[in-house]
Amino acid sequence: MNSIRSRQIQTASRSDVGRVRSANQDVCGEFENAEGYRLLVVADGMGGHRGGETASRLALETIGSAFDRDFGSAETLLGRAFRAANDEIHRVGASDPSLHGMGTTGVAILIGPSDEGWVAHVGDSRAYRLRDGRLDQITEDHSWVFEEVRQGRITAEEASGHPMKNVLLRSIGVGSDVDVSVSAIDLRSGDCFLLCSDGLWGELDDPVIAEVLAREPPSSAAGELVDLANAHGGRDNVTVVVAAVVGADEAPAIAMGIDGPTEIPDSSRLDSQSGASAPHAQSDSPDQRSIWTPPVVIAATLITAMALFWRLCA
Ligand code: CA
Repeated sequence: MNSIRSRQIQTASRSDVGRVRSANQDVCGEFENAEGYRLLVVADGMGGHRGGETASRLALETIGSAFDRDFGSAETLLGRAFRAANDEIHRVGASDPSLHGMGTTGVAILIGPSDEGWVAHVGDSRAYRLRDGRLDQITEDHSWVFEEVRQGRITAEEASGHPMKNVLLRSIGVGSDVDVSVSAIDLRSGDCFLLCSDGLWGELDDPVIAEVLAREPPSSAAGELVDLANAHGGRDNVTVVVAAVVGADEAPAIAMGIDGPTEIPDSSRLDSQSGASAPHAQSDSPDQRSIWTPPVVIAATLITAMALFWRLCA
């Protein structure tokens, strides 16, 4: 197995307001610590114009700060960092009525100094891996439609046009606690990882994403993916972080390696979801994404099961 050092990971990022929204509520960033670990993060805020921007920014800053502060096992670190972000966003949201109910998605990849990696996420921002020309989504969306597809009740095609496609089952900051999905990933030379908000995967089919990642180095792939999403409509903010695992004899890392949050110029921040700010069902025009708490999920699941039972009996 080939050994991979963190300096052999090329990264690049881009975040854009899109063609419809007036503000960008997505953020992304990269952090590196003294041990050579690198952490890549994308967050997509929601909960009104100011709330969404605040939530994703707080998530990025808090996760980055936790990464700097202490380092136990990678899994523990990621879970702790996301929960710290949840606590901070929830605390700020509770103290300011204008920010009440704000939340954000979050997806992160942690890359160690040897051939080791981990992915953590909450919500529907995604991580993909391109390996040997094949693109695989390596996170499972915490969304109502994704769960329905997983349970076999609807198809992936039905999910893309489903009226409840914007309902999230988990988010950072809306509730007092958060369940974070963390798993180990293996890294091989030639792999390319992509973190992105739904503004990318909602506009582009997987083969298009795969073709760009396979053809271009991260520095140009990031920009091309965002440009393509905008060309397909750009209905949401779009944010991508691309990380390519290259061999020792290949070009040195380009990109955005910095210590601390990447300050993305104005057009890059957060997806603008203006709209209601009800505690657990803020909807954002035009994507009208909402977050469901467990009681709502249970009620909806029961209703769905009853409807299915009725259809079978009819
Ligand atoms: Ca979004």
